[in-house]
Amino acid sequence: MASDKVIRDYESAFASWLGARHAVSFWQGRVAEYAILRAMGIGEGDEVILSGYTCVAVPNPIKHVGATPVYVDIVPATYNMDPDKIEAAITARTRLIIVQHTYGIPAEIDSIQAIADRHGIPVIEDACMAVGSTYHGRKVGTFGLAAYWSMQWNKTFTTGFGGIVTTSDPELAQKIEQVWLDCMQAPSIKAKVLLAMMRLAHRLLVFPRTKRFMEGTYRWLTEAGLMGFNPPVREHLQAGAINLKRLGPGQAKAGIRELARLESNIEHRHELTALYDSLLREIGWPVPVTPSYCQSVLGRFPVRGADKPRARAEASRNLVELGSWFECPLHPIETPLAAYDYHEGMCPESEKASREVVNLPLHRRVTQDVARKCVKLLQEIGPADA
Ligand SMILES: *Cc1c(COP(=O)(O)O)cnc(C)c1O
Repeated sequence: MASDKVIRDYESAFASWLGARHAVSFWQGRVAEYAILRAMGIGEGDEVILSGYTCVAVPNPIKHVGATPVYVDIVPATYNMDPDKIEAAITARTRLIIVQHTYGIPAEIDSIQAIADRHGIPVIEDACMAVGSTYHGRKVGTFGLAAYWSMQWNKTFTTGFGGIVTTSDPELAQKIEQVWLDCMQAPSIKAKVLLAMMRLAHRLLVFPRTKRFMEGTYRWLTEAGLMGFNPPVREHLQAGAINLKRLGPGQAKAGIRELARLESNIEHRHELTALYDSLLREIGWPVPVTPSYCQSVLGRFPVRGADKPRARAEASRNLVELGSWFECPLHPIETPLAAYDYHEGMCPESEKASREVVNLPLHRRVTQDVARKCVKLLQEIGPADA
């Protein structure tokens, strides 16, 4: 079928961009992660280690397969899993370690892999926010046994919703294909139409014709939960609820288009990152740290130290797009943490970062002027301790 062809074309284009042998697409990033867990046979009684500074979308598939998420705290400077804290989290039941490259900053993959190898535990990567980031000159997403990616609204490039698994392991790839065949529905006509409408609204917003239109659309999208990081909240209130669907052809077409302009997208992100960096340094604010042997392509630019509730309120009044990602160790704030096996005090650095970090946008709509406006707003509010 023609619609199948466009999906296969998108998968090969993504795999060849990354330098992986196989790619299989899904409706969302979390569904892609689910497919990996299923393919690896992870379930009841198993434990999966992940970062304690994340989005509920990550423990969600773990709960869905009946396994237990085990959270590891972060290094404050990079927001990534602290390798020194992994060993203590490993038990006889640990089946997998998920390495997340938070905000696009590469995690300490080599040290994590070394620990995992000592215990014979496989590693996969959550590269959802790290499209194009490199570690020792090699693209993230090519280190673990597999990686999963998200093309949700707020990611480096978007297909509305969207997710992909990449792997160079032929046996795992084959199992993932099987999960795709056995467990995944093609999206319904209704889901496809709704998503096409949302994508159109999103595109109009990226190139707004009039300020009034933009403001109206912005509010609408915000209320629909599309501008902030959070997908519709209700889904998360039930631990493990997930939409087991394939990617639709419209999303695949959008993905092919987005891949063709990925280089300029990344270039734009580097320019804005450099601008935010210098503006924030000028006013004495801490900026995110990328290890010297890495290059980050940031999904969002994290800033620590703002009076977060006030910054958020001022930003929404002034229509400045300031993100709150992450609002708690398992974003968003409505997540019932206990239902995901997270208990207060488990990851103190993550809890601290959740209280302090806001993030600045880097997508195509953000011009240098918009970037300056974002930083000016933060400057007016002042750091939390001031
Ligand atoms: C966006 C994101 C996900 C999940 O993506 P969905 O497509 O919304 O399921 C998982 N992990 C990280 C780090 C993300 O940023």
